[in-house]
Amino acid sequence: TQPATSYKRVLLKISGEALCKSGSFGIDSDELKIIANEIVKAAKVGAQLGIVVGGGNIIRGATLAQEGAIQQATADQMGMLGTVMNGLALKEMLEKLGQPARVLSAINLSAVAETFIRGRAIRHLEKGRVVIFVAGTGNPFFTTDSAASLRAAEIGADVLLKATKVDGIYDKDPVKYPDATRYKHLTFSQAIDQDLKVMDLTAFDMCRKRNIPIIVFNMKQTDHIANVVAGKDHGTKVTV
Ligand code: UDP
Repeated sequence: TQPATSYKRVLLKISGEALCKSGSFGIDSDELKIIANEIVKAAKVGAQLGIVVGGGNIIRGATLAQEGAIQQATADQMGMLGTVMNGLALKEMLEKLGQPARVLSAINLSAVAETFIRGRAIRHLEKGRVVIFVAGTGNPFFTTDSAASLRAAEIGADVLLKATKVDGIYDKDPVKYPDATRYKHLTFSQAIDQDLKVMDLTAFDMCRKRNIPIIVFNMKQTDHIANVVAGKDHGTKVTV
């Protein structure tokens, strides 16, 4: 029997570092398998699942641009192409595990992936395919967090799930301060007032305006993605 989900359609944001060993770069096959397996479990819960995958494990445009050789608009294009590589890897692994998946790219790369068209994305979702959105927003100077909020709005997601390495949003950095406490629930205004960095401001503002709740949770724990998709209380939920 499958657990009942309270969500019909979900947008999951996974940062690139989910695909490599902690503190490392590139794509690690073992980490890829682990995260793909968690996603398959989440897809089985029954909600339609769209994923925006980041690219920080390959190139971060701003960091590369800081070195001075490559201007940011170009470095960001390179960063977006990094997310395409991650998406291809994830799709392949999902399908290996028996979960149908499609890659939709914000940048036209017709020999490699379908180009993002909103109606097509929704059609894939309705057919039970996991849709992996790559190449961010297709524009430099944005992040994949912004892309996640944009796609969440476009596909009419009930919730944006931000998978991170920590259990949610804390009053202070839990890595530095052992007495840090986790918020279970926050409003968008509380998060702004307390300067809690949930997502970048573009993403945050989009979700607030469109009334899309954000759940920040730990992706590294077994079954967490599936549990969050199932509507069980996990991490920190930010609502209007
Ligand atoms: N990027 C971009 N526009 C977008 C999304 C991403 O230019 O709409 C570039 C940007 O250079 C960014 C890189 O792609 O640094 C990788 O994305 P991000 O840093 O958001 O990945 P994550 O931190 O989630 O792994």
